[in-house]
Amino acid sequence: MTTLSACLARTASRSGHRAAVITDTLTLTWQDVHALSRGYAQVLAAHGVGAGDHVALICSNRPAFLIAWFAIAHRGAVMVSLNTGLVGDGLRHGIEHSDAKVVLIERAILAARQDDIAPVLAGRQVLAFDGEDDLFAAARAGEAAAGHDGHEGDACAIIYTSGTTGRPKGVVNSHRAYLACGEHTARLLQLTPDDRIMVFLPLFHANPQMYAVMSALTVGCAIVLRPRFSVSSFFGDARRFGCTCFTYVGTVLAMLASRLTGVHHDHGLRRCIGGGAPVAAWQAIESRFGVQVHELYGMTEIGGWVTANTDDARRVGTCGLARPDMEVRIVDADDRPVPAGTRGEIAVRPRTPFVILSGYYKDPQATWTAARNFWFHTGDAGSLDADGYLTFHGRLREIIRRGGENVSPVEIETALLRCPGVEDAAVVGIADPIFGEEIKAVLVVSSPIAAAGVRAFLAGKIPDFMLPRYVQFVTRIPKTETEKVQRHLVREMAGDVID
Ligand code: ATP
Ligand code: MG
Repeated sequence: MTTLSACLARTASRSGHRAAVITDTLTLTWQDVHALSRGYAQVLAAHGVGAGDHVALICSNRPAFLIAWFAIAHRGAVMVSLNTGLVGDGLRHGIEHSDAKVVLIERAILAARQDDIAPVLAGRQVLAFDGEDDLFAAARAGEAAAGHDGHEGDACAIIYTSGTTGRPKGVVNSHRAYLACGEHTARLLQLTPDDRIMVFLPLFHANPQMYAVMSALTVGCAIVLRPRFSVSSFFGDARRFGCTCFTYVGTVLAMLASRLTGVHHDHGLRRCIGGGAPVAAWQAIESRFGVQVHELYGMTEIGGWVTANTDDARRVGTCGLARPDMEVRIVDADDRPVPAGTRGEIAVRPRTPFVILSGYYKDPQATWTAARNFWFHTGDAGSLDADGYLTFHGRLREIIRRGGENVSPVEIETALLRCPGVEDAAVVGIADPIFGEEIKAVLVVSSPIAAAGVRAFLAGKIPDFMLPRYVQFVTRIPKTETEKVQRHLVREMAGDVID
């Protein structure tokens, strides 16, 4: 029905005077965001950016990110959202593979990465900005640019996956995918224009873009932009800025639950939405902090979240029911649907067009491998119960095959995280001449604990064939930017393994 640019125009006319973005030093209204992004679109136009062009955006969590993004959208161009932490090959790959015509980059990042990206900047326009002052000055200097009346099915953004399982792929999503996710998230969180969503996850990821920015845009409420997640200032920030909601990845809830002791109700936060929360953390956040947790299942490719726990339909430990515009099913290795309760691959199909991926950029093979029979096959293992609640069991290729049993590392990790003294846990399969694979648990502990004690704790809580044969203690588990366990690195971790 509409594009990001059209939606911004509508929000600016309905809620123009309301705060859109709030930081320590700056508040922009929706009218400001609208005017500045249209002004900056003129700068982009002067650099030859038009409909369908790709513009790489490399920017930290600051208002300039949003102005640049909406300016790109206003030109009918596509934002290539690159991780600010990328260096070397990874960064070059993002700019080069995405065919970015213009690279829009914060000057501090450019200075630090100059040598990395110099080879791929030739032939591209580079627009560097120090921060809001110069970006806004450039925006105000130009006339507001005429917009491009795009189609809701046009590409809106390319996000490179975090590379948990291999080389990052460029996921193309449409305007409709973004806006539909925003509308459903706003409904789920029951947002009103008075809400304020705290954003501390990096803006270059799908989670804050689709769950926070898009839902704020569709209802005209505010985003409180923080540079990063901080446990120590979390509730203080929430109070100071009047935040009501936030979006999370699992580690955020796990850290809040484990590092903040006691009960906290004096912060104004009502709800949070995200994926990967350990059950114990989920329950602690609700009971001790009074914040309702909306655990979801989602991925960049399927336009954000596909199932989630709502007020009316929640089951702790699951990822909830399917979004009204999505269908979810579980299939076996031959793509046949399996009965309720049976594990298999999670597959997703949209009920309306354009709400899931438009393809992996320049990778038709990866696109068609995943999109079979009009279903998108996620590569994730899951099961649906008789009422349609989805349980996530990990990535299919990470399932451990031990002596004929299929073992979900996630299930063992969930049990391990309940063990007193265990702060973090990752479980992997390692080659074994007899069983094919054996189970290794890698643990970060806050107090000394013996491997035998860990096994004794698990006994009876998970089946015997799932008990880890090896236990290894480490100081840190390797994770991606979005805090996902990098199991290939865990598998290679050297150190004492206790048999
Ligand atoms: P890559 O595709 O490069 O490996 P990625 O899959 O980590 O990166 P994202 O799109 O950010 O990139 O993450 C989606 C993945 O996150 C899903 O495929 C799934 O494996 C995992 N995930 C989704 N929901 C949950 C959840 N509720 N709990 C745990 N993990 C989840
Ligand atoms: Mg993925």
